[in-house]
Amino acid sequence: MELGKKLEILSAGARYDVSCASSGSDRRAPPGGMGRNLPAGVCHSFAGDGRCISLLKLLFSNACRYDCAYCMNRASNDIPRASFSTQELTKLTLSFYRRNYIEGLFLSSGVFADPDIVMERLVEVARSLREDAGFGGYIHLKAIPGCGDRLLKKAGRYADRLSANIELPTAASLSKLAPDKSGKEILSSMRFIGESCAEAREDSRRIAATPDFAPAGQSTQLIVGATPDDDMALLGLAQSLYRRYRLRRVYYSAYLPVGLDARLPTGPPPLLREHRLYQADWLLRFYGFKAEELLNPALPNLCEEIDPKSAWALAHPEFFPVELSRASMEELMRVPGLGATSARRIVSARRAAKLKPELLPRLGLVMKRARYFLSLYGRALETSIAWEGLRPLLMDRPPASRTPLLGKAAWSGPSGKPMALAVQSQLEFVFP
Ligand code: SF4
Repeated sequence: MELGKKLEILSAGARYDVSCASSGSDRRAPPGGMGRNLPAGVCHSFAGDGRCISLLKLLFSNACRYDCAYCMNRASNDIPRASFSTQELTKLTLSFYRRNYIEGLFLSSGVFADPDIVMERLVEVARSLREDAGFGGYIHLKAIPGCGDRLLKKAGRYADRLSANIELPTAASLSKLAPDKSGKEILSSMRFIGESCAEAREDSRRIAATPDFAPAGQSTQLIVGATPDDDMALLGLAQSLYRRYRLRRVYYSAYLPVGLDARLPTGPPPLLREHRLYQADWLLRFYGFKAEELLNPALPNLCEEIDPKSAWALAHPEFFPVELSRASMEELMRVPGLGATSARRIVSARRAAKLKPELLPRLGLVMKRARYFLSLYGRALETSIAWEGLRPLLMDRPPASRTPLLGKAAWSGPSGKPMALAVQSQLEFVFP
């Protein structure tokens, strides 16, 4: 098959995987090599359909033995199949890089043979790029489910990032839609990658010549809306993965219908659901929230109308108002509308001088939402609105235009204290 045709088929096959981003690594080319992967988010961007367009995002092969119902490359799907050779892929990546079309490679594959054989091919492409061509650009390799640790170890030497996609949040969903995959095997790959990353970081503190192991860490993807699993299951799992396996990112990918199958919903979930999950995920990673604070069995889905932080604030009137003159960074960051930068500015400004209401806009704070939740020297910044009247002011859009969320009712009003959900043990719960 002509190379251009393969490229067309195998780039189309990769577009459903959103678990790529090139942030978090600053690999440089060795002397005489080429390429430079710029650090922290400079070299990635996403097209409207979720593709990471600065990376050459390809499948090695779209032939697959497995039959995951949500995947267009599944064995039972009648589509044209193609595979690259390792040499073709290496050449293609280098020629695209030289023309400045891409900044790196995201390489995944269907399971066209034994998982070890498939992983070996992916590793060989990365090895050849690094060692034969001196390629210093970004490489993200997919960990093929079921491949051995020896190959993951090799993959981590050449790749900036590795990702093992868990796809569905419970063992029951996985066995229903992806019966050939084992949640335990995927988690075991994640554990190995997480431990190897930590070891390499630790060793490099003592021995400068320690070889890299996936310096940009690992990520995974969860499909949203292909099963009735609620946001609590998705977010609880994400929290466990961050804690246990030190994942850099969990990507949420709204299910896109790829065929008729009675096990699958007929349409995609509203994109807003994916957006809310990303917002909640951000709160887990950077704002000190726990999944069980945002959701509980009585409230298993994120609110559609209001962002998760505002929804949490409305449910916790006892926490507010937050006193600007003495609140900690953590308390300030729980205020709707205030982020880490705003909280830092407040803390450093009050060290330098007494805070005054008229000085707050000069700190660059966006007070549109925050003013309802703040006080200064015991006086609320905004007294014209009663607590009960805040909800409409915090809505992202009017309820009339909303699209219903999948699953149960999204909002049941202030719920009092968060329930003590044992989210830490979520992994045992979903993958016993
Ligand atoms: S293993 Fe499943 S998700 Fe991956 S390519 Fe094959 S059918 Fe698709």
